[in-house]
Amino acid sequence: MLRIYDTKSRGLAAISAKSPVKIYACGPTVYRDVHLGNLRSFLLPDLIRTALASASIECVVVQNITDVGHMVDDTGLEAVDPGQDKMLQQAAIENVTALDIARKYEAQYFADLTALNVHLPDQTPHASETIDQMVEVIAKLIELGFAYQGDDGSVFFSAEKFSSYGAISGNTLDQLKPGHRFDGEVNAAKRFHGDWALWKVSDERRTQLTWETPWGVGFPGWHIECTAMSLNAFGNHFDIHTGGIDLRFPHHENERAQSNSLTGTEVVGSWVHAEHLLFEGRKMSKSTNNVVLLRDVMAANISPAAVRLVFLENHFRQQLNLTWDTLVAAEQTIRRWSDQIELAKDVDSELKVEMSSHLLNNLNTADAVLALRAKEKSLAKSPSARANAIATAADLLKLDLTTAPLELSDEIKNLVTQRSDARAEKNWALSDQLRDELTKLGYEVSDANSGTQLRRAILPPT
Ligand SMILES: [Zn+2]
Repeated sequence: MLRIYDTKSRGLAAISAKSPVKIYACGPTVYRDVHLGNLRSFLLPDLIRTALASASIECVVVQNITDVGHMVDDTGLEAVDPGQDKMLQQAAIENVTALDIARKYEAQYFADLTALNVHLPDQTPHASETIDQMVEVIAKLIELGFAYQGDDGSVFFSAEKFSSYGAISGNTLDQLKPGHRFDGEVNAAKRFHGDWALWKVSDERRTQLTWETPWGVGFPGWHIECTAMSLNAFGNHFDIHTGGIDLRFPHHENERAQSNSLTGTEVVGSWVHAEHLLFEGRKMSKSTNNVVLLRDVMAANISPAAVRLVFLENHFRQQLNLTWDTLVAAEQTIRRWSDQIELAKDVDSELKVEMSSHLLNNLNTADAVLALRAKEKSLAKSPSARANAIATAADLLKLDLTTAPLELSDEIKNLVTQRSDARAEKNWALSDQLRDELTKLGYEVSDANSGTQLRRAILPPT
């Protein structure tokens, strides 16, 4: 059984072993590259899957791809104006179609997940391909009296009709001031300031990403997308809904109001949110030139496994202040472990059980990594047992410790051979001298069991 913190009940929820566990994860808005802060949130369903897998519990993960309708700039990337569709803006900047933008950044997103060794979602419905379902649920909300058409033709959800609004975030309707931006705009057509658009009519300036509906030509609101897709995938109930902490309000609050009103039941079992990530003490933001992508980290010769390790070493509910120093230290750890695993023969069952119990206890990945570190220390004098422990932990936590072979010039290959010979002859002075030469040429030299191991030197930006 997995115990996990549920934002709504503000306590640990038990996810029973009924198989498979149904998980819906809010996915990316695919108009730009995701940065490390986004990736931390998107890792959350994979961590849940990892914890469940350690207890042989299966799960199904559905993650939406937002390729239309997300208007609010909640990213800190101020290049995109709030109130404008992000896809359309980026399409204008890159001079291609909105769909080109969506497919380009979706492919990049999955490449980043794959590099982080994330098990890709089982289903990835696209907003642009789920319009029929959205129209269907909006029509039903109108029929049930939870939604209405405003003077401009747009359809709004009537917030006051949903009595437990605010249960997730604590932002109840009486606390919300008029003029609060729910959808990136203050819309005169809605009856109450807390209402939000389910369907927005568009004018002739919007030439892409519009659809014909009973309410005119337009496009969906962001929140209704997740209601339509999650109900479509799972029916009236699923176990876990994940997202970044910033999605608590208004996105998840509004989604819950819509989904529960439609079905007359509490659709989501547990709401699980990943905390923010800071980089060098500051929020990731383009305006402060503080956006770091996975490929920036890889350009510093730091592996995606090191990034995954840092994420694991910090509990998902704790704010993480990531620094280049932390990433460098994690890469050094990954390299140290990688140099040792070839001696691994058996599974370290004791460690596996201990780590699994940490994972099942509110995804305590930090203690799971600490368990490995303690074991590594305790087995300092037993290389093969230590290798078993490292390989077992790496397998459980999905840390890829394989080292991709480098393409080396003849000059470098020659130096490596000379150094191996020097070591075989116990000529330590020459061996050290050759190591220094390789270091100057940008390589890090370590001595794995099979011989000299060469890697590119870690080069964080200065
Ligand atoms: Zn969502």
